[in-house]
Amino acid sequence: MSAASVGSVAIAGAGLAGRLLAWRLLSAGVPVTLIDARARTDRDHAAGVAAAMLAPYAELVVSNAHLFALGEDSLALWPHWLAEIRAQTGEEVYFRHEGSLVVAHAPDAAGLAHYADLIRFRLPEARREAVQSLDAQGIAALEPELAGRFARGLWLPQEGQLDNDQLLGALQDAVLQGMARVGGQWLERTTVHSLGAHTVRTTNGVELQADAVVDCRGVTADWPGLRGVRGEVLTVSCPAVSLRRPVRLIHPRYMLYIVPRSGGRFVIGATELESQDAGPITVRSMLELASALYSVHPAFGEGRITRAATSLRPATDDHQPVWAQREGVWHLNGLYRHGFLVAPALVQRAEQDLLALLAPSKSTFLETAQ
Ligand SMILES: Cc1cc2nc3c(=O)[nH]c(=O)nc-3n(C[C@H](O)[C@H](O)[C@H](O)COP(=O)(O)OP(=O)(O)OC[C@H]3O[C@@H](n4cnc5c(N)ncnc54)[C@H](O)[C@@H]3O)c2cc1C
Repeated sequence: MSAASVGSVAIAGAGLAGRLLAWRLLSAGVPVTLIDARARTDRDHAAGVAAAMLAPYAELVVSNAHLFALGEDSLALWPHWLAEIRAQTGEEVYFRHEGSLVVAHAPDAAGLAHYADLIRFRLPEARREAVQSLDAQGIAALEPELAGRFARGLWLPQEGQLDNDQLLGALQDAVLQGMARVGGQWLERTTVHSLGAHTVRTTNGVELQADAVVDCRGVTADWPGLRGVRGEVLTVSCPAVSLRRPVRLIHPRYMLYIVPRSGGRFVIGATELESQDAGPITVRSMLELASALYSVHPAFGEGRITRAATSLRPATDDHQPVWAQREGVWHLNGLYRHGFLVAPALVQRAEQDLLALLAPSKSTFLETAQ
């Protein structure tokens, strides 16, 4: 039996939700123990595979008013949070809030029109004029590289994107600094076996105790009906093409988006398959993504595929995110395909609830090894 003081909140899972929540709590002076099965630099979780578009409008075809509102609130929070992270760590995270573009090839014009109608129909009335139809000149004015390639498009000026790899790295440093200042620890390569209201048991026989326990384990969490939805993406290095904004291609068979990053890189996504298989990308998916990409701009044909990644999006039955307590354990989950879009607003609520819960007594905790 060994005993040591550890954090007052224990968080299982250090992907997007766990890392953000740990950083917020540490910034508020709460010691945190973060436990993850992966190494800190491992990027094969959903957070590390995602395209990290911040697209409340475009996603309305698969979401609703609640997710839209969370997305708008989060888009307002991201610049402040990224500025705080930069002030703390000195690290700049690529973030753009310059809108996104939706295009379709001529035979798919009806699909584009339906897509636009559906978004406008689901938008609050006051936001409808933010969805702007474009002709070829309008597309060329926004993205000159696409001049002459598409006759019709949609312009969603309120959308954005960030670089998830940079964000996860900066959060890692901010969390470790916070732990050095406030208390707590990051147990990497440590698999959680089970969670209780005040306990975390790991598969290597360690039992941690904490005032509050939060489950942020994504698809493997213990939440009724939670399932994984397989997504595959490519990262392509192609300095010959220059785009400033995410571009979505409407097509009857597959969904494609091209998300620019710094240094001539693009994240190309994504498949969405009802499968729990997180194994490597299939030949079919690779062909579909690469063919659709080539159809947007032939210069992508000479691009280099630097990464092909797969992960499972954690989805609830109704595709709504969860922040709730069940049998004493808090759950932040169900972020599905909207994690980066909605996480700040959800994490802020989680932070407020946990701070209110911990306010009466900030006790310390015991770690016992069996
Ligand atoms: C292909 C793809 C594209 C996407 N694109 C976008 C996008 O453009 N915009 C957007 O907003 N969202 C996007 N998403 C969704 C977003 O990535 C997820 O919603 C988000 O990452 C979920 O965060 P999470 O923290 O719940 O899960 P994760 O990020 O998966 O983190 C879960 C963590 O829990 C750990 N863990 C699991 N089990 C255990 C255990 N037993 N013990 C200890 N640790 C454990 C894992 O190692 C992992 O670190 C995309 C997702 C995918 C897959």
